[in-house]
This record gives sequence, structure tokens and C-alpha cells, in this order.
Amino acid sequence: MKDWKEQLSYNYPLMFPNHWALPAVGIGWRPIIEAMCKDIAAIDKDSRVRVLQVKEKFGGLRFYFTIDGVKTVTDDPMWKSLNEIVAAGEDLASKTCEYCGKPGGPSSVGGWAKTLCETCATNQLKRRAR
Ligand SMILES: [Zn+2]
Repeated sequence: MKDWKEQLSYNYPLMFPNHWALPAVGIGWRPIIEAMCKDIAAIDKDSRVRVLQVKEKFGGLRFYFTIDGVKTVTDDPMWKSLNEIVAAGEDLASKTCEYCGKPGGPSSVGGWAKTLCETCATNQLKRRAR
């Protein structure tokens, strides 16, 4: 069985051209990323969007992409819409627990910024304390 990340590259082979483009984030953000990909695909009729990296940084989701065939992505007619999709997804992730997908917020786990719900944040602290 494919895991959710492999499933993304299966569903969107051109959007995720290689293994490194696959999300390096917790499963709690899976629905957000899947929705972003679906919205991007709806605009990107010629499959020109290439994901470069999807990761967590300072507790937030970062979704980096480029557009095939243009020198400057911001010059592409799709840019504005794509940028809105990505910004909305990143914003939603900042309120969603990265571990379980429940509503969450900024949390600090052993000095690391994460976006977690109360339960997951508490569990992380307990794990650290052991
Ligand atoms: Zn959680």
C-alpha cells in the first residue's frame, strides 16, 4: 500500500517530479496539502507546476513550487491564483495540528516551534520528560 506521500506523486506525477518534492510534514496536514494540490491542478491545466519542497519551518507549512516553461514564476498568468492557494493552505496549517489535524496553534516542544493541538503538545512534553 502506498503511503499518503507516495499517493500524491502517483496522483500528480508532474507536480511531484522526484522524491525530494514530497511533503516532509506530519500526517495532520495531509488534508490541507491534498486540497492545495487539487486546487492547483484545477488551475494548472497543462501540468506545469513543479513542487520543489514541502516542509515545516518554525512551526509553519512551507510549500515551494516553480512553473515549468517560465523564467520568472511571478510573470506567469497562473501565479496570482497559485500564490493565493498556497498562502491559504499555509495559513490553515498554522491553525491545524501537524500531528493529528485537529485545531491547533503555536506550540514549543523542547525549544522547537510546532503547530499542535493541546493533546499532542502535552504528549510531546511527556515524551520529552521521560
Ligand atoms: Zn494534535
